[in-house]
Amino acid sequence: KDNSTRENSVAKIRVVVRKRPLNKKELAKKEDDIVTVYNKAHLAVHEPKLKVDLTAYVEKHEFCFDAVLDEHVTNDEVYRETVEPIIPTIFQCTKATCFAYGQTGSGKTYTMQPLPLRAAEDLVRLLHQPVYRNQRFKLWLSYFEIYGGKLFDLLSDRKKLCMREDGRQQVCIVGLQEFEVSDVQIVKEFIEKGNAARSTGSTGANEESSRSHAILQLAVKKHSEVKESKRNNDGYEAKIGKVMGKISFIDLAGSERGADTTDNDRQTRIEGAEINKSLLALKECIRALDNDQIHIPFRGSKLTEVLRDSFVGNSKTVMISCISPNAGSCEHTLNTLRYADRVK
Ligand code: ADP
Ligand code: MG
Repeated sequence: KDNSTRENSVAKIRVVVRKRPLNKKELAKKEDDIVTVYNKAHLAVHEPKLKVDLTAYVEKHEFCFDAVLDEHVTNDEVYRETVEPIIPTIFQCTKATCFAYGQTGSGKTYTMQPLPLRAAEDLVRLLHQPVYRNQRFKLWLSYFEIYGGKLFDLLSDRKKLCMREDGRQQVCIVGLQEFEVSDVQIVKEFIEKGNAARSTGSTGANEESSRSHAILQLAVKKHSEVKESKRNNDGYEAKIGKVMGKISFIDLAGSERGADTTDNDRQTRIEGAEINKSLLALKECIRALDNDQIHIPFRGSKLTEVLRDSFVGNSKTVMISCISPNAGSCEHTLNTLRYADRVK
């Protein structure tokens, strides 16, 4: 890829890697930190290996990305590096997506959680600027989950949703609740409500949520008087106004879950196969976007079908690949970096 687009923070596709610090458990086990961040774009993984005669050696794997964020980088800096530059483009009809990819425990949720709140703060501020004020833009929020290939609304008691495509190939998620959010406090409350509704089974919260993709969308819509009468009384407002632009935040299922296809449990196998399919389809779609292909292979999975309208026209994609630094995660870390490498 030519460097002009790689260095441009509003490039169509950006791949950013974030390394988390060693956690207490890893420190207690005196695990090695095998990830070295050389500079803002370059890192290496030092893979511990054994020769046939059992002598230990290290194989070094180097990677370059649009940005590499080390363990000292704060969530605030992550926001400024990834999402902040694309916020103004939302008002120019851009559909933006920000993904967090990585194995369970690598920091996807930690990274993703604060981003929509910061984005909403900036979007609300822009809405009130004189240039936009008289255009009557409003900000709308929705939050849903894809679990085992099915869609659930996280803001209305996990109501099952289905997807429909209209004649103009616009995706519509039937019944998905959207809420107008005029201030950041409300956004915070919706995010908390949705998080509490994420898949949690008997095996514990992180275990289950690692098998689902959580999708939070912030849409800027042009307010229309006429349709406002469609507002009904349970607080739900029908799809009002025309979407100007939107940004989707996607906390992807744990990448290692895609390998659960040989598990003893049938349900786990089905979910694993679905996750594997969706992560592969996502990679193919982003690659197709990057190559300016006319045909984008959305149909590969539920995830990519749902995001279809974010992959056409003016689109921006930020992939944040989260990695664990400990030696025990080496294989998963290399898999994540290879995936990220192939996306661009
Ligand atoms: P995932 O969503 O990928 O499964 P989490 O975001 O839940 O992973 O992170 C796992 C644990 O590591 C959490 O306790 C989280 O607070 C912690 N963590 C992740 N990233 C960081 C970071 N950059 N700095 C400090 N703690 C982190
Ligand atoms: Mg998580």
